[in-house]
Amino acid sequence: MKIYHEKDIDMGVLEDKTIAVIGYGSQGRAQALNMRDSGLNVIVGVRKDGKSWNIAKNDGMEVTTIEDASKRADIVHVLIPDEVQPKVYEKYIKSGLEDGNTLSFSHGYNIHFKNIIPPKNVNVTMIAPKGPGAMVRRTYKEGFGIPALVAVEVDVTGDALDQALAMGKACGFARAGILRTTFKEETETDLFGEQVVLCGGVTELIKAAFDTLVEAGYQPEIAYFETCHELKLIIDLIYEKGLTGMWKNVSNTAEYGGLTRRERVISQEVRNEMKKILKEIQKGEFAREWALENQVGRPVLKRLREIEKELKIEKVGSKLRKLCGLEK
Ligand code: NAD
Ligand code: MG
Ligand code: MG
Ligand code: MG
Ligand code: MG
Repeated sequence: MKIYHEKDIDMGVLEDKTIAVIGYGSQGRAQALNMRDSGLNVIVGVRKDGKSWNIAKNDGMEVTTIEDASKRADIVHVLIPDEVQPKVYEKYIKSGLEDGNTLSFSHGYNIHFKNIIPPKNVNVTMIAPKGPGAMVRRTYKEGFGIPALVAVEVDVTGDALDQALAMGKACGFARAGILRTTFKEETETDLFGEQVVLCGGVTELIKAAFDTLVEAGYQPEIAYFETCHELKLIIDLIYEKGLTGMWKNVSNTAEYGGLTRRERVISQEVRNEMKKILKEIQKGEFAREWALENQVGRPVLKRLREIEKELKIEKVGSKLRKLCGLEK
């Protein structure tokens, strides 16, 4: 694994370059401000007189339309939501890309799945922080940064990697470390992680355990605390100290019970299903399904959102989060 630090990166490659940050949301605002404060020549491209337009103006940024920013810039850094990128790219960005320009992203999805097909004569790069925009900005101001991934899909100028790394350094990421990856690896592992563990796996694990207790006659409030609320404490321990560190911090009973039962919960059958889900991602089947779902107005997503809202765990959870002062 190649990891780049501040001393490995020369920001000189960006000295005479104009960087257009397209979009001024979570990542757009944070990365644009950090790069500007690091002395780079940054302009912001957003929809005229939209909310972002005013926010960027108030931050003292040079603001213009997406079309104009893309035309003027040497590096176009696309930080609008992934699902609107293909349309906005076709309409406002593509025509501004000139020979030897760089098209840059913070997620590989649209390039990897060919929802965006750039012209052959531009660099295609990625610099992707491992955290939300607010953290990107806060840590930068504190004199540190969060780790990020860097990747180069196309290098026509011979210094595409240097440019992406320099943008990362300007954002503060090199103070922590910038890890080398590819568009394929970043995109496929991101989808797999969110489907199998972070979003899909975790919520279904919580639901299944909660339902088991409630069906067995235990009080839903107690079930919620044991199967959902306390999860954060355990995750925080794993985040800070690793699996071993977590085991050291729970009781011996919890440690023994957990270690001897966990493979019955996440069984070989579950692992086989994970492999199938990964295959669907790798073959582009998931991406096609999601594109189709978007084309017809997201009927499945809308229905699933409604079902989720009505779950018993959601009603009980809301009440208890109020008791804990977590929710108003
Ligand atoms: P966001 O939702 O915060 O982006 C909002 C911005 O996009 C606003 O300026 C808005 O005006 C603009 N926008 C929205 N729809 C638009 C449209 N139809 N036309 C023109 N502009 C439009 O986006 P984000 O979460 O910052 O994500 C940007 C990129 O960064 C994505 O590729 C995402 O995968 C990646 N990323 C995000 C995070 C994160 O934590 N949010 C972390 C790593 C990478
Ligand atoms: Mg240009
Ligand atoms: Mg992710
Ligand atoms: Mg994702
Ligand atoms: Mg307990």
